[in-house]
Amino acid sequence: MIVDTLRRPLRNLRLSVTDRCNLRCQYCMPEEEYVWLPREDILSFEEITRLVDVFTGLGVDKVRLTGGEPLLRKDLDRLVALLAGNPGIQDLAITTNGILLAEQAPGLRAAGLGRVTVSLDTLRPERFKALTRRDTHGRVIEGIEAVAGGGWPNLKLDTVVMRGVNDDELEDLIEYGRRLAAEVRFIEYMDVGGATAWSMNRVVSRAEMLRALERRYGRIEPLIEESSAPAERFRLPDGAVFGIIASTTSPFCRACDRSRLTADGLWYLCLYATRGIDLGQALRRGASREDLEGMIASPWRARADRGAEQRLAMAERRPLIQIGELRRDPHLEMHTRGG
Ligand code: SF4
Repeated sequence: MIVDTLRRPLRNLRLSVTDRCNLRCQYCMPEEEYVWLPREDILSFEEITRLVDVFTGLGVDKVRLTGGEPLLRKDLDRLVALLAGNPGIQDLAITTNGILLAEQAPGLRAAGLGRVTVSLDTLRPERFKALTRRDTHGRVIEGIEAVAGGGWPNLKLDTVVMRGVNDDELEDLIEYGRRLAAEVRFIEYMDVGGATAWSMNRVVSRAEMLRALERRYGRIEPLIEESSAPAERFRLPDGAVFGIIASTTSPFCRACDRSRLTADGLWYLCLYATRGIDLGQALRRGASREDLEGMIASPWRARADRGAEQRLAMAERRPLIQIGELRRDPHLEMHTRGG
């Protein structure tokens, strides 16, 4: 097993398959215009599969498909089938906004996808429209319910909580998740690249969320778990379990085994990293498996990234990257590196 300078193993790979998205969420893609990755740079499924194969040879055993919106990538089930054939992958999952999920879920399941996480920030269609600038809430709900009724294990619903936007829906979301046997996870609003409207005032902290939920449900118990997963899990007095991802006020960098590969093959060792390693170009120039292993193993051994912890230590926190820089290098956008 390869470990970094903080003894964190290389295990978890987030694979962005496209930088395109069919929503424009305030916390991720608030601008009118974006600079996209050149089409010819986007890796083919065969190229992605070859890179993933190198990663699994070095210890990666969890792969999550992300985007942008991954279901916008044509014939994604073909990639899923290729990855499902890799015996090193123990956990093959996807994070999606759900809009195209109802139609694609059966094919993805048949191809070997293991788990689904759907982003669901609100249960109210009008609010969804204001938050995402699209009128497709009904399709998201259809997608979630198709998965919930389709016998998939471990359906998760992820909610980015923003003050004054959806912080009055925590209870409704928990109750919705309960009805579908889905675990809801509340995510603190993060100051990642692309979150140009971020401000600390709009962050609802884990502590505040717990206080609000305790007022409604009574005493909430933390579940004690050994895990590198970002969500801390909690149990309500009636047994329902939910998660909180407190990346902004209580980062979990010390246990972070995640890295990210963009759709054009840049590999980032941290969500906040400003530079990536160009595995895609290396592959296209004919790098051997050993070359690629070296390009992955050496930087991982030297990895000291603790992006969110360093942000927390800053006296004055503003959006991470300004708009001009994001336009010059779209790799700095969260939607390019898969959140
Ligand atoms: S900020 Fe970087 S090191 Fe910290 S949890 Fe996120 S990806 Fe991992």
